[in-house]
Amino acid sequence: IGSQMDRVVTEEQWLQKWETGNIGFHKEQGHPLLQKYLDVLLRGRSGLRIFFPLCGKAVEMKWLADMGHSVVGVEVSEQALKEFFSEHTLPYCEEPVPEISGAKKFQCTSRNISLYCCSIYDLSSSLVGKFDGVWDRGSLVAVNPCDRQRYVSLMITLMEKNSSYLLVTVSYDPNKHKGPPFYVPESEIKSLFGDHCEINCLQKVDDFSERHRQWGLDYFLEVLYLLKFVA
Ligand code: SAH
Repeated sequence: IGSQMDRVVTEEQWLQKWETGNIGFHKEQGHPLLQKYLDVLLRGRSGLRIFFPLCGKAVEMKWLADMGHSVVGVEVSEQALKEFFSEHTLPYCEEPVPEISGAKKFQCTSRNISLYCCSIYDLSSSLVGKFDGVWDRGSLVAVNPCDRQRYVSLMITLMEKNSSYLLVTVSYDPNKHKGPPFYVPESEIKSLFGDHCEINCLQKVDDFSERHRQWGLDYFLEVLYLLKFVA
């Protein structure tokens, strides 16, 4: 893990990944773990506000909006957000965000989906409100290790009482791949979030593929946590 702590991926480098189509993290069919644990996130409630930090063009945003929830996402790549709308043929309009210089908000006009094009660190609860649910996949694990505490502190301020946060981390030998995704061990999840919520590990799944073999790895797991922010 020590080997990853100094690694920094700049916003420019993320934009470049999108420009060159180097987006092996994107799941066209959506994530099976969200499908499986949707009830844990929603707990039978309707009309929730769900946040997708570092959203990319995650198709799960459409799933939840189609169920009647209101979705908010944040992503630095404008290309990613435009691809999201065009790939689902969703109409949208573009608005400036006066509170954040250079930021844009992409508002879907047929569903309740608002996507902010800016850095997550520019958001605050006074701007976006608080959320009943979070889907954090490819998000905490994509944050530069030096920014992890800042990211988590911000996320905690965005959580409503009684909210649920599904967090997907990855597990592999961090000496063999520099990341992202970065390896965040369970002990660190506990020290980052533990004072603010109940943490349960729901499942570990083997996700090893050719892509991971090319990174020089010989195992790769996804680890799903449920973080419950109690009243
Ligand atoms: N959650 C998505 C995308 C994961 S990849 C998915 O599951 O597919 C991480 C994404 O975070 C990239 O699209 C990258 O452009 C974006 N990103 C990186 N740093 C960011 C930041 N500080 N603020 C907002 N988005 C960021």
